[in-house]
Amino acid sequence: MKVGYAAAALGVAWIRYAWWPHVSGPRTVRRAPSTARRVALTFDDGPDPHWTPTILKILDKHRVRASFFLIGERAERAPDVVRAIAADGHEVANHSWSHPSLWLCGPRRTAVEIERTHELLGSLTGVTPRHFRPPWGMMNAAMPGALDRHRLRCVLWSVQPEGLRAVGADAQARFVVRRIHPGAIVDLHDGEGTRGAPERLARALPEMIAGLEDEGYALTTVAGLLGD
Ligand SMILES: [Zn+2]
Repeated sequence: MKVGYAAAALGVAWIRYAWWPHVSGPRTVRRAPSTARRVALTFDDGPDPHWTPTILKILDKHRVRASFFLIGERAERAPDVVRAIAADGHEVANHSWSHPSLWLCGPRRTAVEIERTHELLGSLTGVTPRHFRPPWGMMNAAMPGALDRHRLRCVLWSVQPEGLRAVGADAQARFVVRRIHPGAIVDLHDGEGTRGAPERLARALPEMIAGLEDEGYALTTVAGLLGD
């Protein structure tokens, strides 16, 4: 019987800490509340010393600005790539220090994951980051307070093409063009990770950009899309 009570108490504690922020997070953005044909491309899990510069070249060629959600420990190893992202006019944003699931992080670790990356990116670019994306979109109850301390907004996505349904580069580009909507935030990966396949993305990106522009969409950063 005691084991049953303990399991129930643990379950309630887990719901309060890890699950409840997903339904009550007031500052979380998944898309812009806009009817204009403007959308943001976002790139997670970089900087990657090879693939991020490749993606930057493609974006530059198409005159597109985007948002890069960077992992702090990768940024520390590739500071020149971080500076190149900012120098090209893209938004540099926070994707935690070591890419843990926040479901498994306590309040102290959560604060450190956010703060350490926030300070590094600010010092490398001279621009204070405005946006944070939790790894895999997993939040906890300590995250909103840690974000408020740095005036960061939590940004998720409304279009995610890198699942099982879009396996090839062509399919990935078509998936995004088919699912796009005004105010969309598109989640892509320029760094290797559980969802990341940057080589495929580099092949998909020119067709994706052309397809979106053919549909009359302007591409901008998350900051540009949200007007902040
Ligand atoms: Zn990630």
